[in-house]
Amino acid sequence: MGYNVAIDGPAGAGKSTIAKLVAKKKGYIYVDTGAMYRAMALYFLDCGIDPKDIERIGDACKKADISIKYEGESQQVFLNGENVTSRLRDEAVGNMASVTSAIPSVREALLELQRNLAQTEDVIMDGRDIGTHILPNADVKIYLTASIATRARRRYEELSEKGESCNYEAIEKDIEARDMRDMTRDIAPLKQAEDAHLIDSSDMAIEEVVEAIIKFCK
Ligand code: C5P
Repeated sequence: MGYNVAIDGPAGAGKSTIAKLVAKKKGYIYVDTGAMYRAMALYFLDCGIDPKDIERIGDACKKADISIKYEGESQQVFLNGENVTSRLRDEAVGNMASVTSAIPSVREALLELQRNLAQTEDVIMDGRDIGTHILPNADVKIYLTASIATRARRRYEELSEKGESCNYEAIEKDIEARDMRDMTRDIAPLKQAEDAHLIDSSDMAIEEVVEAIIKFCK
């Protein structure tokens, strides 16, 4: 069994940025589970499947072979043999993933892939249900959050820096909707594990959060 660090929290809390830095400092592999849900969502989009059509989604899950490879520190996601990593951050893919990740067949299809990675490697894995469901025996559990206003501002700045046109109110609404979907779904909802350390990064610099997490690790 590898050494396992679980980081859960809502969209935009900075999980991936922080987890990548902790991984680098501690020599862990960073596992981005959101990218797996996004790859599945991309498959549904490419096949033109309506997310309400639970039966077709179930069939599609069996046909979507998702695998992960590492190029140096960077996680590459393959969908039926094709590297789809560069397509996963599209807004449409994120929205589809937010909806379809609540479907049991989708979660089941990705469970083993996540557990297998943690079994064989020292990992820091980020997601929504890692500490509560995927790796209940993780060595360290973190629940990383930040206020909605902070998360919306960070996302706004990130998009503006990339030169993408965006609207602050729309981003805030989108984050609220994603929180609602993640926290209220029946299966593996987003919540803090009882034994997770809570970190609210609203008024913390990235380095401070990284240091706080490293203190909990062996
Ligand atoms: O974290 P990221 O935004 O890339 O995740 C995409 C979507 O996948 C999220 O909106 C969330 O609903 C879902 N997700 C999940 N469980 C995880 C990781 C992501 O339900 N472990």
